[in-house]
Amino acid sequence: MKTDIDRKLRDFLGAKTAKTFADVLEIETVGELLRHYPRRYLKKGELTPFDELEVGDQATVNGRVKKVTVRSLDTKAEIPLADVQRWTRRKTLTKVVVTDGRRDLELAFFNQPWLATKLTPGTAALFWGEVTMFRETMQLKSPGTEILDEEDLTEAEIERRARPFRPLYPATAKLPTATIERSIKIVLDSLDERLDDPIPELILRNERLLGLREALQKVHLPDTEKDISDAQQRFRFEEALVMQTILAQRRAVTDALNAVARPRVEGGLLDEFDQRLPFELTEGQAEVGEEIFADLARPHPMHRLLQGEVGSGKTVVAMRAMLSVVDNGGQAALLAPTEVLAVQHHKTLTKMLGDLAEQGMLGGAEHATKIGLLTGSLNAAGRRTAMLDAASGAAGIVVGTHALLEDKVQFADLGLVVVDEQHRFGVEQRAALSAKSGDNTPHVLVMTATPIPRTVAMTVFGDVAVSTLTQLPAGRSPIQSSVVPAKEKPEWLQRAWTRVREEVGKGHQVYVVCPRIGDEVKNAGDEEGELLETDEGGKKQARPPISVMQVAEALGEILYDLRVEILHGRLPAEEKDAVMSRFAAGDIDVLIATTVIEVGVDVPNASTMVIMDADRFGISQLHQLRGRVGRGKVPGLCLLVTDLWPGSKSYGRLDAVASTTDGFELSRIDLETRREGDVLGVAQSGRRTSLKLLSVLRDEDIILAARHVANSIVSVDAELAEYPVLRSVVRSALESETTEYLEKT
Ligand code: ADP
Ligand code: MG
Repeated sequence: MKTDIDRKLRDFLGAKTAKTFADVLEIETVGELLRHYPRRYLKKGELTPFDELEVGDQATVNGRVKKVTVRSLDTKAEIPLADVQRWTRRKTLTKVVVTDGRRDLELAFFNQPWLATKLTPGTAALFWGEVTMFRETMQLKSPGTEILDEEDLTEAEIERRARPFRPLYPATAKLPTATIERSIKIVLDSLDERLDDPIPELILRNERLLGLREALQKVHLPDTEKDISDAQQRFRFEEALVMQTILAQRRAVTDALNAVARPRVEGGLLDEFDQRLPFELTEGQAEVGEEIFADLARPHPMHRLLQGEVGSGKTVVAMRAMLSVVDNGGQAALLAPTEVLAVQHHKTLTKMLGDLAEQGMLGGAEHATKIGLLTGSLNAAGRRTAMLDAASGAAGIVVGTHALLEDKVQFADLGLVVVDEQHRFGVEQRAALSAKSGDNTPHVLVMTATPIPRTVAMTVFGDVAVSTLTQLPAGRSPIQSSVVPAKEKPEWLQRAWTRVREEVGKGHQVYVVCPRIGDEVKNAGDEEGELLETDEGGKKQARPPISVMQVAEALGEILYDLRVEILHGRLPAEEKDAVMSRFAAGDIDVLIATTVIEVGVDVPNASTMVIMDADRFGISQLHQLRGRVGRGKVPGLCLLVTDLWPGSKSYGRLDAVASTTDGFELSRIDLETRREGDVLGVAQSGRRTSLKLLSVLRDEDIILAARHVANSIVSVDAELAEYPVLRSVVRSALESETTEYLEKT
């Protein structure tokens, strides 16, 4: 099935241009080029509003020149415009101020003084490049330039520029948007009128979508706003359809798997456990429990994601599910992301179960079971016992790290696997588990404190059922959070350390979290404090994030009389565990750590967290970190320290974290400020993902409609035999990164 779409670009464009496309955008075929959609459109004569620009964007703007100056970089002296040609071989800085009619934007060009003669005041031009911040001013540094009202243009060029909309493509300096635009025009003009369409004819009609050929024409060379929206609608639907077809196929496979049904048993461990619970289950905990019991009772494997706010009590829900399986004669495994957390879970379970966990011991309860612990750092004897207990079935519940998934570990009858603090649990991992329980696949419950909006869950976890715990148990003391602008108000940072001392004085404990370890070999740029700046237009870099080592040194003086220790991922495992246990036991006052403490660790006596360079963390991550304090009766305090100036966009994100403890709200803010690729967890280049126009946050309706269509196609024709074009698009999407991520969930 060879169509024009599969032809190589070099058959249409010059060899050099074709090579640039391959090198810069990894675009080699006609089809790939045509699916490089415009990022946005410029309406003829319209200038880009500058207030939509954000630092870090690769932006193309359309502005009118207001002012031009050229200076010598050596003497800083201004060079008269009449002289600029003579400066061609010297170091110069040309500053151009352009306007959108309301605001100004600064452009900086290095060693291109002649531009001053072209970009005279009043000239309208396109500029593209990265938006940066220089001395509190937004700037484009050495942007690409295309003057719009130039004379001496070719006919083709005049026609191109006369179009009502100019497409603006994701572009780079090497491959400017104008080159992409020209190349696409050439390719489109030579394309067949009929193209094989991945969306079946009937569906095009039912959903009122444009056919492929027409949509390509309209997305690249629109005449009206409606052309643009119709074309985009069609491509969004196509992306959603491919995604949902993959998920429908996967669901079909999962539905065909067998699992042992584990219906609830009355009068067993679970009932006993429920009676002994020192608190009432929240409504949410009880409801999710019922959902899980219903799943477990089916002869197909459960695959459920339990998402719940930090501290919402997911562990109890997991325990009840595990006990239900044990009551049914099966075993359950609980997988923790770290040793520390595995040990802590083991302790919690053992404590909560009391004599119910003392099978075979004097004083054990009647239906008691045994809880095993299996981690990488156990000694040989401990390992042997744990493995024997798992293999013989003596241990009803086995807690461990991913060491549990190793081949050597066998279970007598593994019925349920609970994965804590994770939302990616791979197909391979699921397969590894199935191998442990004969022909039957165990039920799987995955727990995460990072909430995922419904549409994302539907897209990324299309074959997973989702339960959500929204309430926190009653009587929890709220966390109070504040931003500490250390540059603007140094005295606030001093006050923060005083506060730390007061908390310790009250018998509480404190975390200080840093974005970096800092035990690397020092390099030249590693000086503290000041912003680094390289000469002549090189990149201005922010200083490296503050490290555990730097903070430990500084606090060593300020908090000299407190018990201060450090914890990070590169410490040997035993040392990490030792430090964490000492902190848990109250033998350390202040723990300076990296995000190793992010997940799950429960030290109720820890009241305060100071997060250094808080702007270096994501919103959800800050929320997750902060969940480590205020877990007991002690009210929690979280201080977000930053060098940013109040009023900047990133400072606003910290304000958001400080102002709400609603994880879903924060997750939404977080996702909105990130690129789609990041939402799905893929590299943000956007080149190789199959989602280009579809937004999993915005396009819920389209995703739902596509899901419906995909289900009806797959239910009668799982192999897509009748849909060869769709089948081949699905196949190549499966090779892309987006779905690589899907495979891992
Ligand atoms: P997370 O969902 O973050 O994993 P945990 O399961 O660690 O939260 O629970 C946090 C704390 O809340 C634990 O100390 C747990 O015993 C307690 N807890 C759980 N459920 C309830 C409840 N219904 N009422 C009161 N406390 C609860
Ligand atoms: Mg937990």
